[in-house]
Amino acid sequence: MLHYLEFGISHMEVPGETTLCIYISGCSNRCPKCHYVQLQDADVGEVLSEYFDLILNMYHMYTTCVCFMGEGDCSAESIGELRQYVLRSHARGYKCCLYSGRDTEIEEWMKVFDYLKIGSYNDAYGPLTSKSTNQKMYMRRSDNTFIDITYRFWT
Ligand code: SF4
Repeated sequence: MLHYLEFGISHMEVPGETTLCIYISGCSNRCPKCHYVQLQDADVGEVLSEYFDLILNMYHMYTTCVCFMGEGDCSAESIGELRQYVLRSHARGYKCCLYSGRDTEIEEWMKVFDYLKIGSYNDAYGPLTSKSTNQKMYMRRSDNTFIDITYRFWT
């Protein structure tokens, strides 16, 4: 069962989108110098299933994209739950983004998300806004292929 610590609007996380960011706890990536260590704790925060529709209702007029900041423990249960939230968001006209801390592209997620950020945080390379970053942001194109748009964080 996924939990979240906070949510809010951002213009920074997904280029060209006004984004409703939901911070999912239970991250198992354990990046050194993690920017948000509270997200590593399992099952902290509110139960997302109890509030997801309420949160979407609150922000539907003001946002174009739902950005899931983390994917929990990446268990089959968590992945299935997150997939349902993406489908429900799409049904309401939202685009969806995942900020994953994993270093590999995630084929399952490429079937459902419109944007995918992948890559652990490495202090030596910096975040997406650094030209030396190891992280990547991909965007789905109309032909369902993905394009690397990481450079759009560098302006
Ligand atoms: S993916 Fe993000 S939240 Fe998870 S350990 Fe890495 S920096 Fe922290």
